Amino acid sequence: MSELNLILAGPPGAGKGTQAERLAAHCGIPQISTGDMLREAVASASELGQRVQGIMASGELVPDDVVIALVRERLGREDCGPGFILDGFPRNPDQAKVLDELLRELGRDPVRVVALDVCEDELVRRILARGEGRADDKEETVRRRLEVYLNETSPVLEHYASALSQVDGLGSLDEVAGRLVAALGLDS
Ligand code: AMP
Repeated sequence: MSELNLILAGPPGAGKGTQAERLAAHCGIPQISTGDMLREAVASASELGQRVQGIMASGELVPDDVVIALVRERLGREDCGPGFILDGFPRNPDQAKVLDELLRELGRDPVRVVALDVCEDELVRRILARGEGRADDKEETVRRRLEVYLNETSPVLEHYASALSQVDGLGSLDEVAGRLVAALGLDS
């Protein structure tokens, strides 16, 4: 079977984390969330965590070299052999270029990209409603994270235009999960 090397893209609040987790379980491949890895570093108060805590709380992106090192190490592990689902990476075109190069270096197939589409009002509503108590879930920071997404991250979709499918992210978890599975051709 071919590798399922997937980027689950979309703005903050689109449901990437939840859907990536479900799809990863469905396909038996790991979910790789740079946001989760960084939050773990912050929670453990490691040197890395202390370095990125303030940046994350402000809604800005942490430096490329930090996340690239995390992803490079993670993708090199054996459990990524059959594929992986990246959630929250790449966040800008430079990260995307490094990822493409890294996959070539590792002799891996290029990525496929599925973007979850959700309008801005619904994104803000969802993030404020999810009440996970994340340090970056305050309204002002949420707006900043959306701006950062539009300015810095959305060009990643242009970088991957030929590998990209768009999926409607509105609806129940099951509905969106069904659309993702169909978009990836995993239902046939
Ligand atoms: P997320 O959980 O993906 O929304 O990420 C939470 C925060 O972690 C972001 O607002 C950034 O500060 C940081 N972060 C996560 N992934 C990346 C990335 N690929 N590049 C830069 N910063 C990131």
